[in-house]
Amino acid sequence: MKECCAVVGIYAPGKDVAVLTYFALYALQHRGQESSGIAVSNGKNIECYKEMGLVSQVFTQEILQRLKGHIAIGHNRYSTSGTSKIHNAQPVILKTHLGTIALAHNGNLINYEHLKKMLLERGLTFATSSDSEVIAKLFALSEADTLEEKISSIMGELRGAYSITMCTPNELIGFRDPLGIRPLCIGKINGGWVISSESCALNTIGAEFIKEIPPGEGVIISQDGLKSFAGRKLKQESLCIFEYIYFARPDSLLNNRSIYSARYNMGRKLAKEWPVEADAVMAIPDSAVPAAMGFSYESGLTYIEGLIKNRYIARTFIQPEDHLRKLGIKLKFNLVVENIKNKKLVVIDDSIVRGNTTKAIVKLLKEAGAKEVHIRITSPPMQHPCFLGVDTATYGELIAANKNISEIADFIGADSLGYLSLEGLMEATGYNREKFCAACFNGEYPLLFDEKIE
Ligand code: SF4
Repeated sequence: MKECCAVVGIYAPGKDVAVLTYFALYALQHRGQESSGIAVSNGKNIECYKEMGLVSQVFTQEILQRLKGHIAIGHNRYSTSGTSKIHNAQPVILKTHLGTIALAHNGNLINYEHLKKMLLERGLTFATSSDSEVIAKLFALSEADTLEEKISSIMGELRGAYSITMCTPNELIGFRDPLGIRPLCIGKINGGWVISSESCALNTIGAEFIKEIPPGEGVIISQDGLKSFAGRKLKQESLCIFEYIYFARPDSLLNNRSIYSARYNMGRKLAKEWPVEADAVMAIPDSAVPAAMGFSYESGLTYIEGLIKNRYIARTFIQPEDHLRKLGIKLKFNLVVENIKNKKLVVIDDSIVRGNTTKAIVKLLKEAGAKEVHIRITSPPMQHPCFLGVDTATYGELIAANKNISEIADFIGADSLGYLSLEGLMEATGYNREKFCAACFNGEYPLLFDEKIE
């Protein structure tokens, strides 16, 4: 499972908006680690800097000092549409009749090819292979009079997931698709405003959380203050349930509830649904840690740390030498052997996609002396791929689409395997099924290509 992207927007006259955006992106690094970019408007021009790499690798003090202005948007990218190349890094910059605009997008359009073909037939050219440029071009082409009307009109054409921050020379804009598949929230900072994929970034830069932008709605922030507007509505909402399971940081809020407590509850429910006699419970870090603590509380098993994660090793741009590459999972995790040796372990993880990583971890733990390894997963078997901005796998690659639970347990080498039920997962979030996209588990995709958006 790979995250999709992070977006940020800041409107704060008199503040160093580039530095604020940098730290907000830094807090959202977990949502995308391929490239990072910041665009800043000074009221006349928009300057942008983007590069491949982590936020801390892309920006220096000197670069941030060059980005002067009072409005900024920022983006961390993990590519789900378009290749992982610098020309697809965001923000997207486009010259329009409103002046230059900058746009940052979290999500994935399912009708990207159709829209691009339509725009190519109208004679437009494209500098990137990402769906975000299509959104910027549609906005630029809209003949509606006001910003709200332009956004509402493009919302009528877009299908799929999009949480967007955008700036013109004088306005900061944020809007979210009618299903609300990806999160987007708004906060206040000393007379200014912040829009962010997750509330954890607001905390990092000292902004106060105000609210989540509701599905299908948007905000425009200018010298006249903040104006909310209703774009397009659908009867259903479909926040991606994986935001709770894996993507969002545990200190973020979603639907006014803490991700940490939802994950803790998932662990408690797993302990009830899949009890096991063991000596200790541990997590595959980081996302499964709260759930392992919940499992420990409910089962009475001691919580231990068995694996320490080298957090961003997968995104280093230094190619490992052959002998390092062969170490595989060991590059990512270090073992705490004395916690593992001669123990019967319950090991909590958030999901199993192809099964290869879980298999490697079970092998690693057993080689370190674990007597038994019982895998417990905080989500149901993933039987369907995602078309809405998450890089999962195809049906052929998804292990749960091709094997039953006991076959998967055999494949990964676990002594037992248990998945949280969909009901248990929903209960852990405190909301019911209608609120979420859970198509990875039940195949009920929220938006068909031709569905009409009012
Ligand atoms: S299909 Fe899965 S990963 Fe994609 S939006 Fe729905 S729940 Fe999230």
